Amino acid sequence: MSALDASPQASEFESPSLGAQVADLKVAFENAYGAPPQWVVAAPGRVNLIGEHTDYNDGFVFPLAIERYIVIAAARPENPSADDAIRARSTMMDGEAEFRLSNLQPERRDWTSYLRGAFAGCLDRGLNPGALNVLVDSKVPLGGGLSSSAALEVATATLVEAVTGQTLDPVEKARLCQWAEHNYAGMPCGIMDQFSSALGAEGKLLLIDCRTETAELVPLDDPNIEVLVINSNVKHELTGSEYPERRTQCEAAAKTLGVKALRDVTSEQLEAARDKLDDVTYRRARHVVGEDERTSAAAAALRSGDWDTVGRLMYASHDSLRDDFEVSCPELDVLVELAAGIGSEGGVIGSRMTGGGFGGCTVTLVRKGREREIAEKICTAYKERTGGEATPFVTKPAKGSHIVQD
Ligand code: ADP
Ligand code: MG
Repeated sequence: MSALDASPQASEFESPSLGAQVADLKVAFENAYGAPPQWVVAAPGRVNLIGEHTDYNDGFVFPLAIERYIVIAAARPENPSADDAIRARSTMMDGEAEFRLSNLQPERRDWTSYLRGAFAGCLDRGLNPGALNVLVDSKVPLGGGLSSSAALEVATATLVEAVTGQTLDPVEKARLCQWAEHNYAGMPCGIMDQFSSALGAEGKLLLIDCRTETAELVPLDDPNIEVLVINSNVKHELTGSEYPERRTQCEAAAKTLGVKALRDVTSEQLEAARDKLDDVTYRRARHVVGEDERTSAAAAALRSGDWDTVGRLMYASHDSLRDDFEVSCPELDVLVELAAGIGSEGGVIGSRMTGGGFGGCTVTLVRKGREREIAEKICTAYKERTGGEATPFVTKPAKGSHIVQD
């Protein structure tokens, strides 16, 4: 038996069907609340091909929405305890949470923070859904760096659109969800995750300019290329201050260099000003400035089908995240090293850690037809090297948030 077959998630290597997920959720909803749902919405997770820790520096990122969705089903309660009472359940959690739209408690931290924050952002914009029973289901691994949190926020905002019959501008929707993550989950993230989930498009990567909050769609439709995501299944519990600390270091570097954000600095300018920065701040800045350049270069290479260049840039991104930005971890390094060891002769184009770091996933571009063999090789060797179980899956760029039923 192969490592892939042995893994409990073997059947999850291919993308799960959204239709089947919705059908199962409708049944679960009726079991939970005694009536079928009136509204069903979906919002995907995302994987970032390249451009890491650049979003909050006003730079470029290059993600795709993945074929793994958070789906929310909802209905008006028959006898609500109040006309603004939300009852929320998740197929992943026991029990039920309840809160009121008139008292959304930003300081309360639990899994409903993401819902409460998105409801608050919608209310601020005049979209009031009223009392609801809600059931959440997800195929986005939680805490795996594929942004289940953003998917949950964007799905919630999409639910409010469905219930109110009002439409949010998709960029505005991403912004309000980012605001929710900052103010209700306490995570000062950039715009990438919410943007990808709200605006993802089938067969397309999003080259997002995080300063102007605009995206160019770049086709990833070469039938010979597959996106392989491998979850290390580790999440190093650090102090939790690492992300804000990196952000602060980047802001300090920009300030010293006299620019609004690191987006405004070229590699040459950074080298010329090197003696103004202490070593750590310099290396943080070198990552961001180099990563912005790599991201633009990768988009150009991808457009012209220059896969060797795309691959080289992915490996360079990983090295920079490991050495200069210091957000990788041994498990992610092993996954990338194993992919690089298979190399282009074995069908691997490039590989890197993806997401915030300290665990989570790698993204690897591979030649079509080799994906299972490559995933199996990497996961088997990963187990030998780390003792841990890695979970691989393939995806194509998927459609962003949408209403499934209203
Ligand atoms: P990531 O965004 O990388 O998946 P985060 O830590 O930012 O990881 O977000 C994960 C959190 O989002 C979970 O701890 C939980 O609170 C919430 N969450 C995500 N998916 C679900 C779900 N299906 N049901 C309930 N809560 C969820
Ligand atoms: Mg998150």
